[in-house]
Amino acid sequence: METIKDLFHRKIDYVRISVTDRCNFRCTYCMPQGQFIPMSHTDILTFEEIERLCRVFVKVGIHKVKLTGGEPLARKNFISLVRKINQIEGIEQVTMTTNGSLLGGYVSELAEAGLAGINISLDTLKPDVFRKLTGTDELSNVLDAIHKTSRAGIPSVKINCVPMQGVNDDELCEIAAFAKDAPIEVRFIEMMPIGQGKGQAGIGEAEVRRKLEAVYGSLGPVDEQLGNGPASYVQPEGFQGHIGFISAISHKFCESCNRIRLTSDGILKPCLQYAGHVSLKELLRTNASDEQIEAVIRQTILEKPQCHQFRETNDADSKKELLEERIMAGIGG
Ligand code: SAM
Ligand code: SF4
Repeated sequence: METIKDLFHRKIDYVRISVTDRCNFRCTYCMPQGQFIPMSHTDILTFEEIERLCRVFVKVGIHKVKLTGGEPLARKNFISLVRKINQIEGIEQVTMTTNGSLLGGYVSELAEAGLAGINISLDTLKPDVFRKLTGTDELSNVLDAIHKTSRAGIPSVKINCVPMQGVNDDELCEIAAFAKDAPIEVRFIEMMPIGQGKGQAGIGEAEVRRKLEAVYGSLGPVDEQLGNGPASYVQPEGFQGHIGFISAISHKFCESCNRIRLTSDGILKPCLQYAGHVSLKELLRTNASDEQIEAVIRQTILEKPQCHQFRETNDADSKKELLEERIMAGIGG
């Protein structure tokens, strides 16, 4: 099987693909709160284009695909895309990330389509906080979807939570409890200064750990590798699932980064923080051959930056002109 490494010897085998920048939520740290003008339908990649790129990704050495957004389930016929990508020879795994609000009706179809894993975002269990945070009253639908998904036989179910000062800091233990009675991974993601997240008060891993330890006791580390990503996991005693930390700010994990990103309008991004400049859409729409596209992807991977500068740019704004200005919904998280 083909593999590819970048200049820093990191094996790159995973791509996150944003299938739309549209979303039925307006999470305060992700989407602009005023008027939001989404990309036009002609600007975003078609399913055929995404499928073709996935075939080329396989040739390069990328065998795992995460579909994200915006809200992926807001895109019409999304499940057909899951099915098609799953059928591509060399694709080992298709997973997705969702806000869960539209998920309930699709769980069994997604399982049948071969979805290997699903991440559901959940930042609060309080309806009023949920409304303030997302601009919707969808909490009960999200919770129903989590329960359905945990019984549907999808191999991996994860809950993603962004801890925020003064918003959900008093709920983190309760959210972690989803991992207690079911084999679910609950991951706490540090707020990143991307898009609307810039300047928002997140809570670092150390403080989350302290809160969890006060309730669940010692957080035994887990040695086995869980998932494809940067999370480090613990398992409190008596838990069926695990608790994970994705701590881009306090525990930079760039040296083990294994991924590239494709935005909904077809920009290939080798690093979350840096603005991508390679438009695969342009290549697709100017009749480039698969070989030409493959060469561009290889070159972009080779030029993947060594690490992000989240802390430094918060302080000094030193490389501002190179940095990502898109909102997280267009990138896909
Ligand atoms: N709509 C889907 C969802 O909410 O899961 C998929 C897209 S969303 C952009 C993917 C993930 O990015 C979510 O878990 C969300 O919480 C996270 N996210 C968005 N903005 C963020 C930020 N500034 N810092 C950290 N995580 C962020
Ligand atoms: Fe939508 Fe997900 Fe962004 Fe929330 S985090 S606004 S659900 S894309």
